Amino acid sequence: MRLPLAVTLLLVAGCASTPAPRSAGLQSDCARRICFHAQLLETEVPRLRVRLTIPDAALPAGTSTHADTLQYPFWAEAFRGASGYVDFVHQDAKDFTESSTRSEGMRTLNYEVTLDHASKGPRHGLDEVPHRTANGWLLVGRAFIPIIKISGALQPSLAAELHLDTGKLPLTTLAGEPVSGARIGSIADLAHALYYVGPHASLRVEHGATTVHVLSASFTQQQLQPLATLVKNTLAQAEQVLGPAPKRSRLLIYDSQPLGFAGGVIGDDITLMSSTPPDASGLSAMGAVVVHELSHLWLKADAPWLSEGFNTYLEMVLGLQLDAASPKRTARALLRLHSKFQAHAQSAEPLAKSQGLRAYSAGAVAAFCLDTRLRRHGSSVLQTLRSALHGDGEGTTVQRYFDSVQAVSPKHAQYLRQLINQEQPIDMQACLREAGFQLTSEPYDGYTLRALVVDVLKITGFSPQRAEIFRTKPDSIFEIGDVIVSVDGAAIDLIPQIDLVVAKAKPGSRVPVVVQRKGVTTTLQLPIPTLGPKARQSHQDLQLQYAPDAAAALLSP
Ligand SMILES: [Zn+2]
Repeated sequence: MRLPLAVTLLLVAGCASTPAPRSAGLQSDCARRICFHAQLLETEVPRLRVRLTIPDAALPAGTSTHADTLQYPFWAEAFRGASGYVDFVHQDAKDFTESSTRSEGMRTLNYEVTLDHASKGPRHGLDEVPHRTANGWLLVGRAFIPIIKISGALQPSLAAELHLDTGKLPLTTLAGEPVSGARIGSIADLAHALYYVGPHASLRVEHGATTVHVLSASFTQQQLQPLATLVKNTLAQAEQVLGPAPKRSRLLIYDSQPLGFAGGVIGDDITLMSSTPPDASGLSAMGAVVVHELSHLWLKADAPWLSEGFNTYLEMVLGLQLDAASPKRTARALLRLHSKFQAHAQSAEPLAKSQGLRAYSAGAVAAFCLDTRLRRHGSSVLQTLRSALHGDGEGTTVQRYFDSVQAVSPKHAQYLRQLINQEQPIDMQACLREAGFQLTSEPYDGYTLRALVVDVLKITGFSPQRAEIFRTKPDSIFEIGDVIVSVDGAAIDLIPQIDLVVAKAKPGSRVPVVVQRKGVTTTLQLPIPTLGPKARQSHQDLQLQYAPDAAAALLSP
């Protein structure tokens, strides 16, 4: 998804593309280890029934037997706030049942969790976990494995194992050593592992010390190939600008959902869900997420403006470099950043204290402004990041980054300090001019968004993240799931951008619209209706002049 999450726990993950046979005798250890027995119930609302067995001997001496020994991070975690895991794992009695017994040095807890997230329709900005795949499930440990809490402290290193009963479907545990009936070292590892239930395709991408396992239960190995190419190219490009690839193994899961796309990070791994097969572009809606998450292998830090904001800038620059973007495409990417930034610019809170979406877009704008000045000084954000990184995949800190900029020029460190501490929004338009772009803002007589969508395109629902159609009117030329690629030759990323093109077309004429329909590129003819003055509205068309030099500067390391 477009809202990647800060990586807080790193788990070296590996995986097997073919499931190992289920081994007998695993349960014998439950007298010494903490055991989870999970049963997948494919009822109308799918559920996981979990039995947790804790031998007293597995807990440190003096541990209370009180019920709050257990903590369920999927409720307590400020993960996605009110719309995060709580959306599919509820604590209320309807969705969660819990009972516990204790005898002969063993305590047993039974509970069930609901896996109905996928039934809620297209979702945006959520980590789409767990989800039903084409042939089974992707289960995420964090959605059903609690953390044992002892004397107020979390003890995540307790030995544990999981027995996941999936009936006839093969199971692959995508963490640690691939086994079935997962036997991973600790509860924390179990909770951060992913569990693929059912057959899936996989590809392995290696670059230096980094391995990325690309998996999908929905798309074929051949359909995954462009994604493997993007991963390989991203790792190579990031290494070129930021230094040696960190030694890391990650999973990249790409499953299908009927409409739209979503995704995010679980532990160290990436999940993406999309109605369309993957592509190799670093600038496409999903390609940008892939680039973003992979560049976190290098860049993570102790403040959101640096960890997420600068990484959002890095995502854009790497995407432009990977796609060898034209000056025009570069200007388009900057305009897109500008509109995202404006959407979150209203707050008077300094960037240094920003969390959430504003830290992403405003942090990226700060990076762009700083980059412009550093480049004129013969350095760049990429170069200063590179020297600030620990170099072992451990990222950097605000202090280290300031030291790195300071080493180039104290004046620029002062400028960065000002950017992150000022209360008024950063003036991105001034930075664009400083970078050499000429800005023009042309008024034009366009359509209201309603008239464009309902009366011209004849649709009633669309994705906010790409030009994908969710609902149509009966007389529409579009079908549900169409992704618009261009209108009258102009490339389109988002539905509202179509306004500028159709506003110029003559009523009564037809303009060609290229769509991706079920994986096939198709050209449709869109009739331009004659609409009354109420359908019209004055718009501003913000444009960046080509400025090939300014664009080229961005693309050089
Ligand atoms: Zn991120």
